[in-house]
Amino acid sequence: MPVEKLHYTNGEVTIVWQPKLCIHSGNCVRGLPRVFNNRTRPWINAEEASTIEIVEQVNKCPSGALSFFYTADEIKDI
Ligand code: SF4
Repeated sequence: MPVEKLHYTNGEVTIVWQPKLCIHSGNCVRGLPRVFNNRTRPWINAEEASTIEIVEQVNKCPSGALSFFYTADEIKDI
């Protein structure tokens, strides 16, 4: 069964990637290559940029394949 959602965190923010929604525009790879690098595995490394850089780039994903949540919010909900 295909993976619906993958999570990558820098401890402060968690990037969520939904492969089925990705249209491979390459926006993320061009915009923040330290984090989004499809030549490495895993292809997302959230520890390579600040939270604000990640949030700004994730918000530019044209398909909605990328989203994020703040880790502190998740802990608050438990
Ligand atoms: S910006 Fe979004 S749609 Fe484009 S490659 Fe990245 S994850 Fe996929």
